[in-house]
Amino acid sequence: MKKAIVCGAGIGGMVSALSLSAKGYDVRIFEKNDYAGGKMGELKRDGYRFDTGPSLITMPHVIKDMFKSLGRNSEDYLQFEKLESSCRYFWNDGTVFEWYSDHEKLKKELTDVFGKTESDNFDRCLDYGKKFYELSNETFLEGEFRLRNFITTEGLKNATKFISGRSMNDVANKFFKDPKLKQMINRFATYNGSSPYLAPQFFSIIPYTEHKFGPWYVKGGIYRIAEALRKLCKEFGVQINFGMELTGYESTSSKISNLIFTDTDGEKHEVGDFDQVISNFTSLPGLMQDDYLTDDDWSSSGFILFLGMKKEFTSVAHHNIFFSDNYEREFIDIFEKKIPATDMTIYLSTTSKNEPEEAPANCENWFVLVNVPYMTDESAWNNQAKEKYADVIIEKLERFNYVFEGSIRDQIQFREIFSPLEFRDKYGSEFGSIYGLSSNSLYTLMKRPKNRSPKFKNLFFAGGNTHPGGGVPLCFLSGKIVADLASETD
Ligand SMILES: Cc1cc2nc3c(=O)[nH]c(=O)nc-3n(C[C@H](O)[C@H](O)[C@H](O)COP(=O)(O)OP(=O)(O)OC[C@H]3O[C@@H](n4cnc5c(N)ncnc54)[C@H](O)[C@@H]3O)c2cc1C
Repeated sequence: MKKAIVCGAGIGGMVSALSLSAKGYDVRIFEKNDYAGGKMGELKRDGYRFDTGPSLITMPHVIKDMFKSLGRNSEDYLQFEKLESSCRYFWNDGTVFEWYSDHEKLKKELTDVFGKTESDNFDRCLDYGKKFYELSNETFLEGEFRLRNFITTEGLKNATKFISGRSMNDVANKFFKDPKLKQMINRFATYNGSSPYLAPQFFSIIPYTEHKFGPWYVKGGIYRIAEALRKLCKEFGVQINFGMELTGYESTSSKISNLIFTDTDGEKHEVGDFDQVISNFTSLPGLMQDDYLTDDDWSSSGFILFLGMKKEFTSVAHHNIFFSDNYEREFIDIFEKKIPATDMTIYLSTTSKNEPEEAPANCENWFVLVNVPYMTDESAWNNQAKEKYADVIIEKLERFNYVFEGSIRDQIQFREIFSPLEFRDKYGSEFGSIYGLSSNSLYTLMKRPKNRSPKFKNLFFAGGNTHPGGGVPLCFLSGKIVADLASETD
């Protein structure tokens, strides 16, 4: 029986472990934290429950297909719920826009808020994203990254679109006149930690796929997905060893021969009995090519406030965005100056709107997320800096008085902060970035880690830092791609 070691029990790690197990491998996972799920985590405090990472699922069929491939019915583990609206958008001038998942309702909202012409332009913009989806779906998302996937006649014809040099913002400018509508389309670049002013137009695929497949939530919280995978691991005999951090390895010229894990007491454990190694992270020095960690184009990080709110806010939806006044300046701050923006766009998710039991009666569980730069300075997020930035965010929210009608601060029962420092230390992500190398240029996109190690024949990479990209469905796909590659390799 062939043996595989999976390092990291994030989504990509667990999916690759399960897929290899289904192929007859003996698989063991080693995870540094004491829970499975990585960035898909959960926080419970004083009767409030929060998802600490993903809050919205698109393409749930990818997850369901994976369960099916294991001979399981996802409905026995998870209950997906389609949301009526993916997000409620707010601007300082009092404009509110509901992004309905139903196309007709959305078109009516577009016409009501932005006028008929912009509503028609919206359809054209979605069609533009559809072209990229159709070209890339099978070749790009479901298999190993290969340039030759595009060297068909159709691929060559379309290759110019991929290398056009146009950004997402150019797409927004091409189709829309209204700056607010442009801002909404541009926001989708942040789904993979990029700037819309830099990220290639290829990413107009994101609004298209979200609208095509709809916004989904999982009953009981997104974290239930991580729990379901952990349960499957148990059913498939995949052992997860918690509190085991990969801290080193030994190799021959072409293969990893020994893995060194350090447990929570600092004791070292050597594991050498394996055929293949899958890593669910790329941050361990030496694992990637030598110059990998010297790169300076990482995706954005996040600054999260978990707020227990003593009140219900009737104007707030499950998913909300409070836009900054100058979107371009915000991204210049994040990606060029590499400083947290003072006029920031704020994402607020409160699952208790859908599931009241996730907060005490008449209260709300607020997950507040702001995009911030990856870490360039160790001291940037000391306690004082964290508290100060949390205050700036709350002040900014309070300026949306037409939504909150009074002080937010007075309604906070508790607040917990999660900064880029925690992203780096808890998840082992490079410089606190959420998605590893950015997708801000074709050049960096090409440099993003592939699923097969360029250094070692028996090493593979799964997860959001690798191909096909970040986000829960893509991490599922990467796990599957990696299991296929590993099992085809001697
Ligand atoms: C705040 C936030 C919001 C998000 N929102 C969404 C969303 O709404 N929708 C969506 O689809 N996606 C979202 N994402 C992205 C999504 O969560 C990630 O892309 C996905 O969960 C990453 O999975 P992964 O397989 O890359 O593993 P990770 O979650 O990165 O897990 C890697 C695992 O490896 C472990 N590890 C690291 N180093 C070591 C080591 N040396 N030894 C042993 N173990 C180690 C870590 O502890 C971790 O468990 C969000 C992410 C964040 C952080």
